[in-house]
Amino acid sequence: MYNKPLILTNDDMAEGVYAASGCFTVTWNIHQRPEVGRGDYRIQVNAQHSASHTCTEQYLTITFNQTVTFKECGAASIDGSASGTVIRLTRRNFANGNDNIGFGDVVVESDAGLSVISMVVTDNGMN
Ligand SMILES: [Zn+2]
Repeated sequence: MYNKPLILTNDDMAEGVYAASGCFTVTWNIHQRPEVGRGDYRIQVNAQHSASHTCTEQYLTITFNQTVTFKECGAASIDGSASGTVIRLTRRNFANGNDNIGFGDVVVESDAGLSVISMVVTDNGMN
């Protein structure tokens, strides 16, 4: 299993991997961003489960460097506020202990200069 290394640059953080307290390692890529001004950003998000449990729901929390407005997501739905620097999504599908899961494209609207501070995925792990 190849994981891209943590990439931190001075200008932005368009691509990265983040493993936090959750049982998922999250990778993402901002693969579409507006050239100028306000517009849509499309962020592909994937997560690798590494646990001895299974789960039926996964919770993605994204922290951005600036305010976004959530527009859509291919595989998860918004929980709580759809606008702010932190958004939370829930994906309702079964995952085995070692599954790769995809959240599809997370589409948000924001001003120029958007970057991701962190992404964390947790779940309702069941033994
Ligand atoms: Zn888990």
